[in-house]
Amino acid sequence: MNFEFTEEQKTMIAVGKDFAEKEIRPTQEEDEKEHRFRKDIVKKMAELGFFGCVIPEKYGGNETGHMCAALLCEEIGRVSASMTLPFNCQAWGPALAILNFGTEEQKEKYIPPLVNADMLGAFAITEPNSGSDVAGMGMTATETDDGFVLNGTKMWISNIQVADLSLVYAYTDKSKKHKGISCFVVDNLKTTPGITTVPIETKLGLFCAPTGEISFEDVKIPKSALLGERGQGFKICMTQLDQTRLGCAARGVGITRACHEESIKYALERTQFGVPIFSFQMIQEQIAEMYVEYEAARLLVLKAAFEKDQGNLSNTLSTSTAKYNAAETAVRASNAAMKVLGSYSYSSEYPVERYFRDAKSLQAVEGTSNIQKVIIARNVIK
Ligand SMILES: Cc1cc2nc3c(=O)[nH]c(=O)nc-3n(C[C@H](O)[C@H](O)[C@H](O)COP(=O)(O)OP(=O)(O)OC[C@H]3O[C@@H](n4cnc5c(N)ncnc54)[C@H](O)[C@@H]3O)c2cc1C
Repeated sequence: MNFEFTEEQKTMIAVGKDFAEKEIRPTQEEDEKEHRFRKDIVKKMAELGFFGCVIPEKYGGNETGHMCAALLCEEIGRVSASMTLPFNCQAWGPALAILNFGTEEQKEKYIPPLVNADMLGAFAITEPNSGSDVAGMGMTATETDDGFVLNGTKMWISNIQVADLSLVYAYTDKSKKHKGISCFVVDNLKTTPGITTVPIETKLGLFCAPTGEISFEDVKIPKSALLGERGQGFKICMTQLDQTRLGCAARGVGITRACHEESIKYALERTQFGVPIFSFQMIQEQIAEMYVEYEAARLLVLKAAFEKDQGNLSNTLSTSTAKYNAAETAVRASNAAMKVLGSYSYSSEYPVERYFRDAKSLQAVEGTSNIQKVIIARNVIK
């Protein structure tokens, strides 16, 4: 086992860190305050190849791999959790699902614009009445002579109000239960009749990452929108989540590192009882625990990414372990950082309250922490 990064991976870390510091940090607090989605920054990330790591050169990618993508995602997440969402909405989600299950025509049409962010992507699984229970979805796709007609509502969908394209999961045959779900690549989201999107403005965090609801009312889509085969949607969905959960985990690692760094900085600056608070052993304990948990969470992410780079994209156990652990670690680290900063943590003048709010999303998105534990338990007895 080799713990040394390759030169390429070291370069990615440096590029990611530099980009986050120069392109995201300077306007970040203002963007957060205004709940501003920075499409221009997403485009610049695309130009640097951030969404091409897991995509073959043939479709506009750079083939640097999941490890590079995870390292980049950590660097961006250290500065802005919101700005890591495009890793999933562009690459690990739609582009990779289309690569794995699409026709050649779909690959050529959709993957390059997702990689270069000419098209913004999304994936729509969750509904108002079905979250963890994916097969409980109500959305239908009724086949007609020349295509499908979509009806239903998806809720809590990242990017949906800004997206051009989304993977949409719907029942083509409800009687077959989860084997009756199909996946569709729905494009022209902003112009297709019958589609309505509504932003969710009441979120706790991730203010620079749009989230919304999308409704489909008798929306006609062509037969060519079907991804994979009829009835393969549940499998596509689980395969897709096995990739996007790695992005969530890397985001959690980034947040944890930010908490650790901010706590050290503050603990060295802040004096009480005539000494920096860093000299108190209880503060040292909090900082030491954050460091240990950051290192452990990062290693689990890198292990899952390594396995994917070896060709094992269905490494559900490693991916869910990394995602569950990183989500819980980020929440614990942000909670600890809130304590280290005392009352100042409670003010938006310091970034720690943002880390705390953003970290909480990780316990829900792409399968709650309970659901990750269900998946882990099912896999460890195999
Ligand atoms: C910021 C944000 C972005 C999101 N982006 C997307 C997106 O891009 N696309 C998308 O499709 N969805 C997205 N989601 C939705 C997210 O994936 C769901 O919210 C999540 O899967 C949980 O579903 P739910 O909220 O309906 O919770 P529920 O399923 O109703 O669960 C409620 C509680 O019950 C628990 N529970 C449920 N079933 C079990 C069980 N079998 N065993 C133990 N406990 C259980 C859960 O762990 C949870 O604690 C996003 C959510 C957020 C907050």
